[in-house]
Amino acid sequence: MATSTLTAEALKRLGVDASSGALESRSPIDGALLGKVALTTPAEVGEAVGRAEVAFKAWRQVPAPRRGELVRLLGEELRAAKDDLALLVTLEAGKIRSEGLGEVQEMIDICDFAVGLSRQLYGLTLPSERPGHHMLERWQPLGPVGVISAFNFPVAVWSWNAALALVCGDPVIWKPSEKTPLTAVATQAIFERAAKRFGDAPANLSQVVIGLADVGEALVDDPRVPLISATGSTRMGRAVGPRVAARFGRSLLELGGNNAMIVAPSADLDMAVRAIAFSAVGTCGQRCTSLRRLIVHESLAEALVERLKRAYATLPIGDPLEADTLVGPLIDEGARDGFEAAIAKARAEGGEVVCGGERARDDLGGAYVTPAIVRMPTQSSVVAHETFAPILYVLTYREFDEALALQNGVPQGLSSCIFSTDLRETEAFLSAAGSDCGIANVNIGPSGAEIGGAFGGEKETGGGRESGSDAWKAYMRRQTQTVNWSRALPLAQGVKFDV
Ligand code: NAD
Repeated sequence: MATSTLTAEALKRLGVDASSGALESRSPIDGALLGKVALTTPAEVGEAVGRAEVAFKAWRQVPAPRRGELVRLLGEELRAAKDDLALLVTLEAGKIRSEGLGEVQEMIDICDFAVGLSRQLYGLTLPSERPGHHMLERWQPLGPVGVISAFNFPVAVWSWNAALALVCGDPVIWKPSEKTPLTAVATQAIFERAAKRFGDAPANLSQVVIGLADVGEALVDDPRVPLISATGSTRMGRAVGPRVAARFGRSLLELGGNNAMIVAPSADLDMAVRAIAFSAVGTCGQRCTSLRRLIVHESLAEALVERLKRAYATLPIGDPLEADTLVGPLIDEGARDGFEAAIAKARAEGGEVVCGGERARDDLGGAYVTPAIVRMPTQSSVVAHETFAPILYVLTYREFDEALALQNGVPQGLSSCIFSTDLRETEAFLSAAGSDCGIANVNIGPSGAEIGGAFGGEKETGGGRESGSDAWKAYMRRQTQTVNWSRALPLAQGVKFDV
């Protein structure tokens, strides 16, 4: 069935009208027009923030476990809509079906996590140095949260932020990628069903604003939005971070990665080959955690590259709606241009293309490519840069310290991993002097994180953490409270000031 028909049917089942508006959504699968959505103006962003402020004043007074009930209902609605929303993710972002379903499952998982969290927004009790006093550290709702998201996780990133923000007492204003507006509008419709079932939720707890960078900037510059959670390229983060800081706002930046795997002599190569294939080629290399650099011991390099070459030759490339496809399209022609430019640059920097690097499936009408493996003599400029496409650069090392230096020797710091069965190596990799990334894995590839851990990276990846662990603290305001229940007024540090 045509992508446009599948989209129209899924949108209808989800109760979404996407028949008019200035922003067209086209499928990366075949270039077909999937729907149209109205663009928000920067002035309308200001109005949305005003509405969110009103919602905040009511929502912050709702007990957190009751706020959790709304997120529980959101999880239920997502379960009911899972197939359709996942289908839209495939149609609009080009992910294979199981990855589209996985993305929606991640939304459900974070809702479950946040429901539990709604009863665990723990503060501290602290001993006071003054008699008859006690101290508390309490977490208070923060205010409207602006969420800016990238095309490659068109819905999960919203949920990582929204599920936590909502239980923390904060409304959310979401600016999705202009490349994936339909999945955003559909997610909003699912949220509204949950809010309706909840009954007395204030209006506008979740709003979507649609547009390009100017719409994002209106959100970024609004002083009524205390937290901007922005996911996307380092280029975007470089623009957003300083603007939010200039108004003393808080930003949570989830930016580009350049993730590596060290393959040591003791590695289980069967496992490594499978992990490499999924993390370098899955989502057509369009995950922030995609494997981009393979740092392999020189004794293994020939054999490993040969095995990878054979595995790559069998990869089914094509329509992600088909059950056996593993490699779908790149998001658009611009991404394919970037892929080709990187391959050319790698060659110019002395690289040898082992396989791939070509255009593929021209019959389908999307930007398909053959995933590339490129052996590089050094970690040159093209290797240190994130190209958002399936290119795996292979570097070799002799001593472990050399591998670690290569792994850490790029500007980005998102995800990293080592395949080794040598305890000394794996512990060194995980130690204070080991990987400098936000994520460090042993005998697992760098992509496919679970929601329970805090997710994010260091250096040019932006330093933000979202999703699990104590990432919720970014969505709250910390308040230190001191209570005097005595009849005296002693000052701290023994200061005397008697009047
Ligand atoms: P992008 O930077 O082009 O766009 C991301 C979002 O930022 C979009 O909504 C866009 O409209 C908005 N935007 C762009 N410029 C802006 C500005 N000046 N002010 C406000 N908003 C602005 O990224 P993309 O191509 O959609 O996504 C791919 C990138 O995202 C890759 O670099 C990838 O690594 C990164 N990413 C990171 C994570 C993470 O968690 N670290 C997750 C997913 C994607």
